Amino acid sequence: MWKMSAAVVALVGSGAAIAQTGSESELWARAVERDRAVVASARATRGDWRPVIAGYERLLARFPMGPRAADALLRLAQLEWNFYQRWAATRDERSAVARLRRLLTKHEKSPSAREAWNLLATASPKDPLFRRRGAARIDGVSINATGEKTARVTLSLDRPTTYERGSVPADDTGPLRVFLDVARAVLGPKAAPVESALGPVARVRFGDHLGNVRVVLDLRIASARVVVRPHGATVTVDVSEEAPPVARAVQAGPIRRIIIDAGHGGIDGGAVGRRYKTREKVVTLAMARLTADKLRERGFEVELTRDDDKYVSLEDRTTIANRENGDLFISIHANWNPSRKRQGVETYVLNLSDDRYAEKIARRENGPVHRKGRRKGKARVGSGSNLNFILADLATRASVAESSRIAKLIHDEIVRGLSPHFGKVPGHGVRQALFYVLVGTKMPAVLVETSHLSNAIDEARLRSLAYQTGIAEAIARAVVAYSNRADRVVPVAPVAPTGSKG
Ligand SMILES: [Zn+2]
Repeated sequence: MWKMSAAVVALVGSGAAIAQTGSESELWARAVERDRAVVASARATRGDWRPVIAGYERLLARFPMGPRAADALLRLAQLEWNFYQRWAATRDERSAVARLRRLLTKHEKSPSAREAWNLLATASPKDPLFRRRGAARIDGVSINATGEKTARVTLSLDRPTTYERGSVPADDTGPLRVFLDVARAVLGPKAAPVESALGPVARVRFGDHLGNVRVVLDLRIASARVVVRPHGATVTVDVSEEAPPVARAVQAGPIRRIIIDAGHGGIDGGAVGRRYKTREKVVTLAMARLTADKLRERGFEVELTRDDDKYVSLEDRTTIANRENGDLFISIHANWNPSRKRQGVETYVLNLSDDRYAEKIARRENGPVHRKGRRKGKARVGSGSNLNFILADLATRASVAESSRIAKLIHDEIVRGLSPHFGKVPGHGVRQALFYVLVGTKMPAVLVETSHLSNAIDEARLRSLAYQTGIAEAIARAVVAYSNRADRVVPVAPVAPTGSKG
């Protein structure tokens, strides 16, 4: 710590003098600006992060209860948790957990608290804070078929908590699934999966999702009306069969406008194929155009971040997406791996606590923009966009759950839809990484690594119109499924808990 401060003074230089007299918002802006520069850096070392840490710490030292304190604590915890993931130093882990505890005790009402609970659930799953601060324990679940077409699932908790709901549409591989993500909950010893031989709900089981407990209802029906109601510590989920939609076609529901982002472009060629020297920027543009066509055929509005071979900075792509009021942002890339054997698809959503492998890819992705940024010199330093970056970053976290849903749909459609036609297309799952282009989008955002240019088979596929069209079809089907889901599950306003009434 002591050495670190000395380094900060050396690095920050004249900035330190300003910091003495800076207002909280000035300190915040300065810290965020530094943070952003290092985030964009392709090869940030631990030493590069020190001034960033020091910036947030300075804010906390001077304004420990200020309106930015919780944000600063959360950001520090995220960074240190990432360091721990990367360099495995337990002091980083301890420090991250300590910051989260402080945030959750001193600033428990702040908007950052939810994210902090989620990170704490990952970093310290058995943390005493969960008990003290009321993590809900799930004590059990039951299914009551109230008729052939209706059933009530009752979830018993030891105290009221919050939850998010969603569903995965029926498809070839399984029926409709409805789920509840119960925030900062733990499974009690008696909570076990249950099954019902009758009614629309076949089974209820538990899983883990982004640090929350996910309660999954496997249904026997393809279309359901679902009503979720809290009654104090009990949550009921009423499921009733609903006539399937008459036409699968094109009522796009709340998903109307889709931003398709062709990765790279212009001087930023992206990855280069091992065998045929295929340029990533060429195949991403081809797939983006085809995807746009397929989506328009299905009645969606589509905006492309680029429709020719031009350079668009990652920041500008995000700006376009937000300006165009996209309901979904889909960035299309081709992958590259040091192993020439590795094949297949990966789908990414933004997350700052990613594993090392994912981070390597993210850093490679971030490389070109950083070099360009440097060439432009310091023109951008001090501009408003630097501050907006992290602010938008924090806002983006809100849509991570939705992003994961659409990412899973796209991933499954590609793997399932393309394998019969092209031979096995291995799916490596929905992953989380710090892709710069996803940071700051104000809508669910995913990045699809459509296949590996480092593998000869994948590269040949990526060059073929058939595979490109297959990818476009798969993405379009996933968007339709996502959109239908949003239509089908009836949104329910939370009922104010007025005592316990059944
Ligand atoms: Zn790429």
